[in-house]
Amino acid sequence: MQKILIIEDEPNIRELVLYNLSQNGYEGLSAEDGLQGLSVARSDKPDLILLDIMLPGKNGYDICKELRAEGSKTPIIMLTARNEEIDKVLGLEFGADDYIAKPFGIRELMARIKAVLRRYESNGEQEASGNGSVAANGAGIVIGELTINIERHEVILAGKSLELTLKEFDLLRVLAENRGRVMTRDQLLDKVWGFEYIGETRTVDVHVRYLRKKLGDEDNEGKYIQTVRGVGYKMP
Ligand code: CA
Repeated sequence: MQKILIIEDEPNIRELVLYNLSQNGYEGLSAEDGLQGLSVARSDKPDLILLDIMLPGKNGYDICKELRAEGSKTPIIMLTARNEEIDKVLGLEFGADDYIAKPFGIRELMARIKAVLRRYESNGEQEASGNGSVAANGAGIVIGELTINIERHEVILAGKSLELTLKEFDLLRVLAENRGRVMTRDQLLDKVWGFEYIGETRTVDVHVRYLRKKLGDEDNEGKYIQTVRGVGYKMP
């Protein structure tokens, strides 16, 4: 049974989520403050963490940062209270996998959990078996000064290794594997986040923006990621 930890100081939300986790066949764990949450995350090794931002003890941003700094790859969905927090949450600085804005519907939350877990598992399988058309040659995809090594999960730009979040890497990989082809936002959502996300195109745009920043490629006619107006993105 997959274990899901919710770190949330609001008892009503915690109880509601725990109840629905068990109804959906997950083992739910919970913590009501940041310090307790961090310690349960370390000791119980959940398969996914639902993480509130404003928490007593230690806030969600710091928890996320600390877990990533320790090398934890556990998928994290941030529970955000405000819309402005979204850009921050999805950035590399914190390394969360996704967010859901409060107040959220329980069905939407369950759909996201499923999508994140499924995406995470299929990434793991790809890595473990090392198959896939592009990964097989081991040399990676080279575009200008950019080299993407899928097997090693490594991106090198002008000789320097780039630090990308898991989602940024997946997004870059999907664009690179479909080089020259325009990918719509919905296609990118499907391939990178899972089909439940269709319609949530802002997520794609936010990630593209971060990715471009890291690639030093911030205009729409970029060297690595081009915007095709009204359609989506492509790698030339
Ligand atoms: Ca809170």
